[in-house]
Amino acid sequence: MEQVQHAAYFSVGLTGGIGCGKSTVADLFAVRGASIVDTDLIAHSLTGAGGAAMPALLAEFGAAFADADGALERAKMRKLVFGDPRAKVRLEAILHPRIRAATMAAAAVAGGSYVIFAVPLLVESGGWRERVERVLAIDCPESLQIARVMARNGLQQEQVQAIMATQATRAQRLAAADDVIVNDAGLERLAPQVERLHRLYLAFAERMPTIPSQRL
Ligand code: ATP
Repeated sequence: MEQVQHAAYFSVGLTGGIGCGKSTVADLFAVRGASIVDTDLIAHSLTGAGGAAMPALLAEFGAAFADADGALERAKMRKLVFGDPRAKVRLEAILHPRIRAATMAAAAVAGGSYVIFAVPLLVESGGWRERVERVLAIDCPESLQIARVMARNGLQQEQVQAIMATQATRAQRLAAADDVIVNDAGLERLAPQVERLHRLYLAFAERMPTIPSQRL
């Protein structure tokens, strides 16, 4: 089969547990010229009013899973899949391929020096390792994750811990990472780490050969 040649882009998968500072770090890369493709935002838009996944979701789960605007009733869906692993599989069978296609489409038109995919559950999801050149973990102690998310979202400690229990451990993320940014102190400690990695990624991006579209 003929392979269409596309312009290459160097890509990084940015991950980290809840509240570790993924968005904060992504913003620092963005101002330096990286394109950020946020898989959470993409998932949200697919399941928002008029979202591309909504017809398939409503066909599978019923019209009662849409709110008045036609957006997914997230709380209701969360409740369903929490108690029913088979419903979770059905949900993911609809969402994952669409998230993946929309993510890759966004990356293909991104104009930055290289692409950073922000993927909270990169380690948990599988398949991402092969799609990115580097995995970057944002790391901080669990006590700080809890404190930050409690402050930001007004959650109780137990609620944050319950979310963390569904995510990979700090050690698992570190084991999967090529690069690590430590976010356990003030924001001023982030810029030098971001700067160093940005230079590294630019150097990699410059050496990147043209790649076949099949990889997309
Ligand atoms: P989520 O997984 O919930 O999307 P995240 O990993 O993207 O979170 P951020 O939203 O970047 O994390 O950070 C979580 C909260 O902690 C935010 O309110 C952010 O402003 C704050 N924060 C992050 N890093 C620091 C820091 N070094 N010092 C002070 N506050 C910080």
